[in-house]
Amino acid sequence: MDAMLILKGTMIKKSQQRRRTSPCNYKERLFILDTRSLSYLERRPGKKPILKGCIQLSNIRCAEIVCSSIPIPCTNKYPFQVFHDNLHLYIFAPDNYCRQRWVRALKEEIRLNNLVVKYHPNFWMYGRWQCCHQTEKLAAGCKEYSPEPNGTKVLPEVPESKNTDRLGSPDNEGEGLVVALQDYTPQGHSDLPLKADQEYTMIDSSHPEWWIIQDNMGQKGFVPCTYIAEKSGRNFDRFDWYNKDVTRLQAEELLMTEGREGGFMVRDSRHAGFYTVSVFTKAAGSNGLKNPRVKHYQIKVIVAGGEQRFYLAEKHLFNNIPQVITYHKLNAAGLITRLRRPISHNSISTNSSFIHNEDRWEVDPEELVLGEELGSGQFGMVLEARWREKRVAVKMVKEEAMSEDEFIEEAQVLTKLSHCKLVKLYGVCSQRNPPCLVLELMENGCLSDYLRARKGQLSPATMLVMCLDVSEAMAYLESLKIIHRDLAARNCLVSKNNEVKVSDFGMARYVPDDLYTCSMGSKFSIKWSAPEVIKYSKFSSKSDIWSFGVLMWEVFSEGRMPYEHNTNTEVVEALATGLRLPRPRLAPDALYLLMEGCWRQKPGDRPSFAVLLHELASV
Ligand code: ADP
Repeated sequence: MDAMLILKGTMIKKSQQRRRTSPCNYKERLFILDTRSLSYLERRPGKKPILKGCIQLSNIRCAEIVCSSIPIPCTNKYPFQVFHDNLHLYIFAPDNYCRQRWVRALKEEIRLNNLVVKYHPNFWMYGRWQCCHQTEKLAAGCKEYSPEPNGTKVLPEVPESKNTDRLGSPDNEGEGLVVALQDYTPQGHSDLPLKADQEYTMIDSSHPEWWIIQDNMGQKGFVPCTYIAEKSGRNFDRFDWYNKDVTRLQAEELLMTEGREGGFMVRDSRHAGFYTVSVFTKAAGSNGLKNPRVKHYQIKVIVAGGEQRFYLAEKHLFNNIPQVITYHKLNAAGLITRLRRPISHNSISTNSSFIHNEDRWEVDPEELVLGEELGSGQFGMVLEARWREKRVAVKMVKEEAMSEDEFIEEAQVLTKLSHCKLVKLYGVCSQRNPPCLVLELMENGCLSDYLRARKGQLSPATMLVMCLDVSEAMAYLESLKIIHRDLAARNCLVSKNNEVKVSDFGMARYVPDDLYTCSMGSKFSIKWSAPEVIKYSKFSSKSDIWSFGVLMWEVFSEGRMPYEHNTNTEVVEALATGLRLPRPRLAPDALYLLMEGCWRQKPGDRPSFAVLLHELASV
């Protein structure tokens, strides 16, 4: 039987130093893990990669992350180890997520091998083990090895006494308290779930990435340290947005060099004890011309109710600075742009940071065989292609139509989503110019064309199933607090088995409080937009519900244009007087009632997708 591919990605490999005299170097390699072996290849621009080494999985006796505070002399800072044939292979992943994926996958594959009982959690370096200081390279390990894929967090053993020291005694109350910056779903049984804005007690913060905290029910567990902030603390070193010793001038230089929309950093202000946010935008200035520039905002502090509160925009006060940053990552709320991506000395890249960090999504351009054009949209062409024996759709991005930033945003939203009624993203090919998205092929094209082409052939029952498909996908997005913002039949696709899936996430956003305000000019389509979107650009799941009502109308009208004889201005005026789209001939009364429910003036009076899905199913 052929070996099956499990993981593939570019990481850095340290030479294995088989002999004492062999050189110590770090080289970028393409790693491939399949069901038989772990191999690494050298990439050569324009040529086929060459195989540099191959380890049989049956010879691996330990795979585990390396836990070390020794400065790492290569750009990837997340090491893990593979012990095989009496050799230690050190591999450096670009981020912790990638490392965890590799270690978990390796552990899964080697679980039936003759595994070590103990291993060395730190590096072999300078002629000794940095964990136990033994000087024999093959000396037995000093820490028990867990073959469990979830046991990959190597944790410092903290004496009980030390734990309680950190809990905060009555005279330093608040010191041991942390606030969750965002929700966290446990990745393993030892993790603790987090709910944004809730308080927890810090138990141990000595690990570089995973901290132990306790919730108010007394449950303890691990959480990624960047998901929480000390209630009263100013140690931001762990956050990728903090640049300690950067002056205003250096910040401008760094941000202008990167030139990434919404690139930002937090740095120490000239005034001791204060912090400044520097942010880059290319957006047009007041004269309407593109104007790349950096703006600096000091994070303001006030004392309210005896407590310090921090803010950038007066209306949005927070208990600590990381919460301010988390909020403005999603909401510009008065800044020239929202804080889209942290830039620091270490993160300066030639490639996009997303592609770099999300190596697992990278599609090798050599594996893509492009075929015929399937269609073209406002952002560029969509082609049929073959990729790894699969027929796929490749969405190319016209450079002038969409900035790389916009493209990355669409891809970033998609990588986080997985639902059978959403068009699937297989990967991103960033090595092509322009870059492209590799998507699930939807043989029957977009829903509006499909409906028009089958006029008179579809039964109301089939139409209802189509609406159910879309509402299932939307209920999923609603549950994740993702707003689509451009739901319409033209943005849904139909599969070869006539299943409808939601697509086109170019404008989708994650919004924590289910409300998003922005000024986006003419990008949205008036005839699908809720009144509060037209008036104040207020997007929410309830404005998606309005658009869904229009989509149901399109389905039951066999792809007709809503308000086909009216201009946008006439539509806006008619809506204000309470007029709505008429019942399509093929829509049963019960279904038209649901449409009307979606078009209630007040967003709060409209149903949620979860409720609507239920009601549609019983029409
Ligand atoms: P727009 O940019 O206007 O939102 P898209 O670029 O998403 O539109 O798609 C343009 C056209 O390409 C669609 O109308 C459809 O016909 C075709 N298309 C897009 N994605 C796919 C896909 N995954 N499978 C098949 N056809 C697709």
